[in-house]
Amino acid sequence: MTNSTPLNITIIGGGIAGLSAAWYVQQEAARQGVDITYTLVEQSDRWGGKILTETVDGFGARPFIIEAGPDSFLSQKPWAAQLARELGIADQFLPTNDGRRQTFILHNGRPTPLPDGVMLIAPTKIKPFVQSRLISPWGKLRMGLDWFIPPKMDDSDETLAQFIQRRLGQEALDKIAEPLLSGIYNADAELQSMMATFPRFRDMEKEHGSLIKAMLAAKKSRAQAPPNGNAPSMFTSFKPGMEELTLALRERLTGDCRLGIKVERLEIRDWRLTDPTPSPISNLQSPIYQLHLSDGSTLPTNAIILAVPAFVAAKLLAELAPQAAETLRQIRYVSTGTVSLAYKRDEIAHPLNGFGIVIPRSERRRINAITWSSTKFDHRAPEGYALLRIFFGGSRTPQMMDVPDEALLPIVQEELAAMMGITAVPLFHRIYRWQNSNPQYDVGHLDRVAAIEASLPPGIFVTGSPYRGVGVPDCVKQAKDTAVNVMSKLVIE
Ligand SMILES: Cc1cc2nc3c(=O)[nH]c(=O)nc-3n(C[C@H](O)[C@H](O)[C@H](O)COP(=O)(O)OP(=O)(O)OC[C@H]3O[C@@H](n4cnc5c(N)ncnc54)[C@H](O)[C@@H]3O)c2cc1C
Repeated sequence: MTNSTPLNITIIGGGIAGLSAAWYVQQEAARQGVDITYTLVEQSDRWGGKILTETVDGFGARPFIIEAGPDSFLSQKPWAAQLARELGIADQFLPTNDGRRQTFILHNGRPTPLPDGVMLIAPTKIKPFVQSRLISPWGKLRMGLDWFIPPKMDDSDETLAQFIQRRLGQEALDKIAEPLLSGIYNADAELQSMMATFPRFRDMEKEHGSLIKAMLAAKKSRAQAPPNGNAPSMFTSFKPGMEELTLALRERLTGDCRLGIKVERLEIRDWRLTDPTPSPISNLQSPIYQLHLSDGSTLPTNAIILAVPAFVAAKLLAELAPQAAETLRQIRYVSTGTVSLAYKRDEIAHPLNGFGIVIPRSERRRINAITWSSTKFDHRAPEGYALLRIFFGGSRTPQMMDVPDEALLPIVQEELAAMMGITAVPLFHRIYRWQNSNPQYDVGHLDRVAAIEASLPPGIFVTGSPYRGVGVPDCVKQAKDTAVNVMSKLVIE
């Protein structure tokens, strides 16, 4: 690589984080008017990583739209929606059917509604909470003590279990927080870092002295806010499915995008010690890296963004940055899977009157949750049909990952019969298994991430779900921040 060739940034991993990093490098280079090239390398035969939508036709005018990974993104975090607007696909936004929003929690084997007014975890309406069968009278009293318990004012981390036990008691943990809040992360509440997963609750505690007081204040300020007819739903998807986002991203990328190529090794090829021909882009002391690719070729590059799982980043950095690699290896992963089942609507007696059922660990079932996909969203099943999605594996039912498909399906059907009375034979099903898919933000996670970032060699960056948020919007934000950071380090104006 001579000084006359433009600087190159290589992004490894073509999931939402890698695709977004490429997009924001492209955007940033255009904005700054600098000549920077980028290469995006993805080992599999498709773009999108865990974002994967399958369409099944043949049952009427519209197809079934099945999500293998995420089915939506949290609207409150603006970065995924912002990206969709930049890509020109905002007209494809699909909000959840909030008129039918109701979450059920399995309680003694029966789906029991989460009481009206329970916001995230804390009650804000007295009557439905008092009347609910979900929590015992003692459990309700204990939750009420949150009002009086002094807040923890320091910033030290704790587990989700410790936080909920401290503020709301064991029953609130077992019946609400564990299935809802640990469920999102497929995490173990006894290990899950509060500061890395729900820092907002800690802020609320500090600011208002109690979670119930904080939720009531939030409710009041929402009520006082001017009415907003366009208020977004809590979760958003795209009409053709979540893959709309990654497909649109790939389409708009103008760089060198290589599919079916695995990065096998990284090394330092050279150092750019001096730049005799000053130019708008120059950097006097940067290493030039060399990537060894699975097709036998090599690729020189000035900066590398690792948008791969932490254990892959650890392997690639083992020689270049052993300390970073060691800490990257400490980020645990669990495996998860989903089973989507299609039915004729009239063969299911259950009203499907909500978004689905979450299942506390204490219920000891063989599945973790059920989403009533065709109630949660329009456009997911043809007229007269229903689509359900079942989650398994993770930290709650890890043994299910080893159950072969032919044995898994009857288990799922038994569970559906027991919880929802469904005995109909599904029209078809789809099983997706994601091995080592879910990074675990164990207590102390943010310190580990800071240590990793501090021990990376110059010109190497990590981004995506293993670090500062697993949700699609968090991955987009991290990718954007990383792209801006890489550009600012490479480009001296
Ligand atoms: C079942 C499931 C449901 C989920 N539901 C939701 C949800 O509803 N909402 C939400 O916001 N989030 C959800 N998530 C989380 C979210 O989908 C992920 O956190 C996010 O998609 C991860 O994106 P990423 O780019 O960080 O990683 P990935 O999607 O894992 O992408 C990493 C890419 O790197 C590639 N790669 C790995 N090694 C190499 C190598 N050596 N060379 C080249 N390429 C390599 C991989 O093939 C992969 O494509 C869900 C996750 C799962 C598994």
